[in-house]
Amino acid sequence: MKRKAAFLLRLALASAVVSQVTAQEPGYPPDLLQRVRQASTYIPGPHPESVNFIKFAESHRTYAAVIEGGSDEPFISARTAFQAVYPNGFIMIDAGMDEAVHRFYGFGRDEPYWQDRNDIVQVALRQANMIVVTHEHGDHVAGVLRGSHRAEIAQKTILTRAQVTTLINSPQLPEIQLTEELVQDYIVVDYDELLPVAPGMVLIRAPGHTPGHQMVYIQLETGIEYLLVGDIGWSIDNVTELKLRPEATMNRIGEDPQALMSQLNWLNGLLTEKILVIPSHDDVLLTAFSREGLLVNGLTLH
Ligand SMILES: [Zn+2]
Repeated sequence: MKRKAAFLLRLALASAVVSQVTAQEPGYPPDLLQRVRQASTYIPGPHPESVNFIKFAESHRTYAAVIEGGSDEPFISARTAFQAVYPNGFIMIDAGMDEAVHRFYGFGRDEPYWQDRNDIVQVALRQANMIVVTHEHGDHVAGVLRGSHRAEIAQKTILTRAQVTTLINSPQLPEIQLTEELVQDYIVVDYDELLPVAPGMVLIRAPGHTPGHQMVYIQLETGIEYLLVGDIGWSIDNVTELKLRPEATMNRIGEDPQALMSQLNWLNGLLTEKILVIPSHDDVLLTAFSREGLLVNGLTLH
């Protein structure tokens, strides 16, 4: 009860901060998980055998920049791309970024970037059966928007209408701007709540961090369930402690705190469901999960 009261208070405070944002807050009804699980069976075929990831860059932050009330301890933001590996192919979730886009996130500092690993991401994008992105920020989407293989990669890349609208009208940085003409190379979809895209894989609409943000649910053949939650929280602590990013960070990004809090609350409830809730950038969690064999560190190529 206490926790619920604290949550409602935080929600009230958060909504006071952004009263001018016209957020279409998605509902996260109690039966959503059940419907997501059901939807993951709609496309017939064997489910994935593993979820893999690769870290191609890092940004160095502090917890104070990542979570409300966080300490000055260092937080390593792992820049990652994920891969769902099927018996006969694979799907990429997020697309890496070239070094020029990486520099945007350094705020003038030189931060780790592994060219060879982003090259692997580009190979994986070319070999993938399909590509989806969690959201339209450069560190997740640049790999399908830039580079010499863009047109080839674009054909099998699913973008949502909301992602496309941001990329045309208000891209995070000029390097990732799309035009109406370029958009025609991509598969553009729109959905209200969830969209099954492959056996064992469902997209869940989650605007807030960006208008086109979505989560990706994956259920392996073994039954292990993952929820790739993109940037709803940069640390799993955002989920476990039900805390947003600090106000200054939210304002810089232009986030919708009310929508994000609603998402964090839903995700927090999933932790007891034994679903692996995985933020894109939580280096500590990714390292722990790969050590435990729950995630494969490294992409599978043909
Ligand atoms: Zn990100």
